[in-house]
Amino acid sequence: MTDLLKNPIFLDETKARDWLEARVWANGRVCPHCGNADQDKITKLDGDAHRPGVYQCNEPACRKQFTATVGTVFESSKIPLTKWLAALFLMTASKKGISAHQVHRMLGISYKSTWFLMHRLREAMRVGGLLPPMGEDGGAVEVDETYIGRVKGVKMKRGGSRHKNAVLSLLDRETGQVRSFHVSNANAAEIAPIVNANISKEARLMTDTAPVYKKMFTEFARHDTVDHSKDEYARRDGETIITTNTIETYFSVFKRGMKGTYQHCSEKHLHRYLAEFDFRHNNRTALGVNDAARAEQLAKGIVGKRLTYRRPD
Ligand SMILES: [Zn+2]
Repeated sequence: MTDLLKNPIFLDETKARDWLEARVWANGRVCPHCGNADQDKITKLDGDAHRPGVYQCNEPACRKQFTATVGTVFESSKIPLTKWLAALFLMTASKKGISAHQVHRMLGISYKSTWFLMHRLREAMRVGGLLPPMGEDGGAVEVDETYIGRVKGVKMKRGGSRHKNAVLSLLDRETGQVRSFHVSNANAAEIAPIVNANISKEARLMTDTAPVYKKMFTEFARHDTVDHSKDEYARRDGETIITTNTIETYFSVFKRGMKGTYQHCSEKHLHRYLAEFDFRHNNRTALGVNDAARAEQLAKGIVGKRLTYRRPD
C-alpha cells in the first residue's frame, strides 16, 4: 500500500485520466453515444477551448463529443479523477471497509460527495449479467443466512430475527467465490429462486439443519447438513468436510465490517454493502489477488453502471 500511495495517478489529473482511459478503452476508444470504434473516426480535441480528455466522434450520424467517464459510475461528477482513484484504491484495499467519514477526511472532499462517490464505487463492485452456476461437476456449495441491522417499524422480539435484515449467501468451495443477497425474509419463497438460479443441480449442498433448507434441496445431487443445535459444525466424509464454516467466516468479516466501519446502513443500501464485501472476498489475497490487481478488477466494473440517484437519503 505504501508503494501504491506514491502512484502519480493520485496527484496528477492527466495521469489519472490516462490510467482510466487505458482501462475503460482497453481495446481502443469507443464512442459511448453510437458505438463507433473506428479509431480513424475519433479525434482527440486538444487546445485551450476544450476540457482535457474530450474526444470527437466523426461518424456522420453522431458527431458527438465524449470522455472516458461517459457511461461509467464517474459520469457527471465534479470530483477530480485523482480523488476517485484514491477512493477506489482505499476501498479495495480495506478488508473490513472504510468509512465515508475517513475517506472524506483523507481526500479533503465533502462528506456528502464522499458518500455518493463510495456508493457509486460499490455499484461498480456489483457483479452483473449471467454468471456460471456454482458447484458444477459436483463441487461443494455452502448455503447459509445471517441477520444484520434493524428493519424500520418492526418490533424487536426476544430470540426472533424478524426485526433484522436477512442476508443469504452462497459459497462455492472450489472457486472460493461468494454471492450474497438481501432477502426480505429467509423463507423458501425467497431463497429457492436464488438457489435455483445460481447453483448447479450437480452440486453437493451444505447447510445447517434449518427447516427452510430441508425440502428445498431435494433436486440437487446431494445435500448434507451439520446440526448446530448438537454442537456439530464440521464432520469428515471421506475426502470431503461437511461444514458451513467457510461461509461463517465470510459472515464474520461482513458483520465486523458493518458494525465497526459502517455503523448505520439502511435496508435500501444493504445490497450495495454486500456487493462491496463480496467483491473483496472474491478478489482476495488468498486467491492471489493483491491490492493493485483488486483495484484493476474494480476499474473493469465501472463501465455501464452509472447510478442515477442523487440524494443521500
Ligand atoms: Zn458516436
